[in-house]
Amino acid sequence: MVIKNVPCCYCLQTHSVRKYGKAKSGYQRYMCKHCQRTFQLRYVYSAYKNRGDKYPKSGVKPIDS
Ligand SMILES: [Zn+2]
Repeated sequence: MVIKNVPCCYCLQTHSVRKYGKAKSGYQRYMCKHCQRTFQLRYVYSAYKNRGDKYPKSGVKPIDS
């Protein structure tokens, strides 16, 4: 079993963060005992992933000269 120290999104402490079940999408959720708030690490990754979709698939040529 791998236990990873996860920093809280709000106070950045690692020792106050506990696992807090999973979201519907299957992503791990965490709860910070210090802030009494829950968060998911997955927010960061999905933000990066969606960047590619902003660009049109055709009609715009990249400038490569
Ligand atoms: Zn916190």
